[in-house]
Amino acid sequence: MKKFQEHYGLRSTGEARPGDETIQSLNEETAKTPDGYYIWRTVGDDKVRESHQALDNTICSWSDSPNPGEDFNCRCWAELILISPNCRDEQEALNIEKEKFEALNKRKDQHIKDLRKLTDKRDQIVQKMNETLGTEIASFIFGFPFARTDFIFELLQRHFNNIISDELLKAADRLAKERGAILKKIDYTRDQLNIVMIALLNSKAKLEKAQQELKICMNKKS
Ligand SMILES: [Zn+2]
Repeated sequence: MKKFQEHYGLRSTGEARPGDETIQSLNEETAKTPDGYYIWRTVGDDKVRESHQALDNTICSWSDSPNPGEDFNCRCWAELILISPNCRDEQEALNIEKEKFEALNKRKDQHIKDLRKLTDKRDQIVQKMNETLGTEIASFIFGFPFARTDFIFELLQRHFNNIISDELLKAADRLAKERGAILKKIDYTRDQLNIVMIALLNSKAKLEKAQQELKICMNKKS
């Protein structure tokens, strides 16, 4: 409060009363802040949700969401910070890093969603194989996930010669191909997810550095 009063050239009493000059300046500043910055503060007990704990003591923008107090039962608050014009470059750099981080986060979520869909599909195929081919033949096919299906076909005939009908062989061939295609997609999506996770780690470090630099700049000013 005193810092705020000093910044505005008001008497630094550390107090504010309804209608006084401090409250007036505070109101003016809050009306301005939607494109400004604040420091996220939490009450620091074990009821603070994880996502808010992660934001504790970091510089945030009003244009991002959520803001403190917006989520249900949130007891966090925003500590107003006044960014001087000579810290604008740091502020701009922080904006860019934040955008990059959020874009990567979205990509991560999408990959996880895709992966879940693909593994569900794979599980359905596995179930269908067990049902239509019997677990013995099905598990035999599982041993050759990426082999050419005509090769599996041959092996099946050799190993299960007397119990496999042409119809079953066709079904085995079709399901093995389907499963093989899904497994390849799962591998690819996993690789993509790993790449994004590494990029996210780098991005997080850059974001923290940008926040640090903005903080340093603001401390110099005050
Ligand atoms: Zn909260």
